[in-house]
Amino acid sequence: MVSVLWIVAALLLLRLIAELTLSALNRAEVRRHAAQPPPAVAAIMDGETYRKAAAYTLEKSRFGVLTEIFDTLVLALVLFGTILPAMFNEIALWGGPESVWNHALFILFAGVLLSIPGLPFEWWEQFRLEQKYGFNKSTPGLWLTDKLKGTLLTFVIGFPLLWALLSLVHWVGDTWWIWGFALMFGFQLLMLILYPKLIVPLFNKLTPLPEGELRTRLLALGDRTGFKASTIEVIDGSKRSGHSNAYFTGFGRFRRIVLFDTLIAQLTAEELEAVLAHEIGHYRRGHIPKMIAMSAVMMFAGFAAVAWLARSPWFNRSFGFPEAQLAPSFLLFGLLSGAVTFWFTPLSNLLSRKYEYEADAFARDAMGGPAAMIAALRKLAQKNLTNLTPHRWFSGFYYSHPTLVERETALAKAA
Ligand SMILES: [Zn+2]
Repeated sequence: MVSVLWIVAALLLLRLIAELTLSALNRAEVRRHAAQPPPAVAAIMDGETYRKAAAYTLEKSRFGVLTEIFDTLVLALVLFGTILPAMFNEIALWGGPESVWNHALFILFAGVLLSIPGLPFEWWEQFRLEQKYGFNKSTPGLWLTDKLKGTLLTFVIGFPLLWALLSLVHWVGDTWWIWGFALMFGFQLLMLILYPKLIVPLFNKLTPLPEGELRTRLLALGDRTGFKASTIEVIDGSKRSGHSNAYFTGFGRFRRIVLFDTLIAQLTAEELEAVLAHEIGHYRRGHIPKMIAMSAVMMFAGFAAVAWLARSPWFNRSFGFPEAQLAPSFLLFGLLSGAVTFWFTPLSNLLSRKYEYEADAFARDAMGGPAAMIAALRKLAQKNLTNLTPHRWFSGFYYSHPTLVERETALAKAA
């Protein structure tokens, strides 16, 4: 069916045009301010850091143009070419008519195959671009080991999961997708608990924050803000990158706060306290369960869509696959859904930014004023060479956090 392929081609092209337009607008905005930073920004960064941040932003953006065009071309080639159906027909022969394990392998092999063309780009980004601005701390050996470990992990976790998903049709019939959703959602909850315990240690070392002034201070903050913090951990992010961060994962008694060692090296005790207060704010305002609920809704819709597409004979056939085969429908959905969900990016980021404002306000109240939070955010922007003058459309579309100027304004307003 030609018309389906035309719709898909149009979707891919529209997304690419949007990506390239937004990043061109953003580069123009950065260049416009390059010589003379706006007053609000001049207070945040000295001239030299500002120029370096602008150069870093422009270089990353230009590199992004290349990868976006390349990724779209690869995806189009794979979708409209014959390589995936040929692969499927070959792998289908490995098992009997009812066997599922080989179909699970097909999806995994296709995933690996699709990740290969982008590898040189990832390598370049880490060892050329990030290196140039002093952020790369990884080595080619570590990088390669990471890739191999990641692939191995995909098979170890992905194979049983896909096998179970694809088996559901044989077990329960037409309602397989509701059970599939339950299985995936349960798996997601389990991973929230297991990921820091089982997966992260394969790549990083997590250590409890050592005894001392900082720990005492942070635990006192936890008590003050109603967060039982037996779980402040330090991750050795410096093993791979100079970028710094802090994050919050899990839920209920599995919640944990993770600080990058790079962050601890860059911030004062008071600034770290403010950052932790912000993370506790996410917890106290119930952001994590809300995010989980939202992703459950999205996942349910996704399963309903796969079930509908798998039932529609034209879907598989349009891309050269035999109809009534679930594995190709799953794979195609995985490859195509991004071209649709892309347009919802600004919506989910709008919500994410709302949560960031709430967490900032919480931190300000916990710290008795905005000074420490603002100082921490400024230092993070300096050390990470954050772009302080993004185009409004670009930040509105892509930014999960408000810009620094927006956050400072909000922090100062209600103080
Ligand atoms: Zn946050």
